[in-house]
Amino acid sequence: MRQRHKPWADDFLKDNTHLIVPDAKSKRGKWRNMFGNNKPIYVEIGTGKGQFITGMAGQHPDINFIGIELAKSIIVMAGSKVKDAKRDNVLLLHEDAADLNELFAENEISLIYLNFSDPWPKKRHAKRRLTFHTFLSQYQHILQPEGEIVLKTDNQGLFEYSLVSLSQFGLELTEVKLDLHGAEDSENIMTEYEEKFSAKGQQIYRCRAQFS
Ligand code: SAM
Repeated sequence: MRQRHKPWADDFLKDNTHLIVPDAKSKRGKWRNMFGNNKPIYVEIGTGKGQFITGMAGQHPDINFIGIELAKSIIVMAGSKVKDAKRDNVLLLHEDAADLNELFAENEISLIYLNFSDPWPKKRHAKRRLTFHTFLSQYQHILQPEGEIVLKTDNQGLFEYSLVSLSQFGLELTEVKLDLHGAEDSENIMTEYEEKFSAKGQQIYRCRAQFS
């Protein structure tokens, strides 16, 4: 995602610590307390500018959402969107998904969204793909038993790789859609990338996988 320097980013982070949580690793195992309730927690990795998480939080007030985004100039845009929408069931973490086990305790999360993750098409970069087995091990640890992963992408290569990687890891594929927008799904909330790619006529893939 294109990153532009945002001169207001540091001030935004300082003024919105209730929304973009600083020192997030110290909250490991305490995320339910952070939300002040016992609702299930869904995590989106690589939240981008926040359109998906803001929409999902509005559509599902019975779920708590945590968005993780590495880029400061991008997470402040997500923060601004969540703030404008006045969602109280969203928290954002300016963190690296590689540190998931330091951010969440065992079984703390119910579901993980991977939306239009960077495809890392070169073979030598496979270990950076968010469905590489080392990431799947981390997901398995923080997800409750029978926890789920939901992946959307426009990238056929990443989709095919992920289907194989998820299956080989022992997850059950409970949904595989090769043309998400070809069928009516009034509940689908589009991400920024999804809107951009589907406007260009690109096919959108989605799969859902469950640990047993
Ligand atoms: N999900 C958004 C969408 O669909 O519009 C953004 C997709 S963009 C291709 C991928 C995003 O993931 C970028 O904003 C990038 O900064 C973020 N990202 C990449 N690697 C990450 C990591 N290891 N931890 C957290 N965020 C990451």
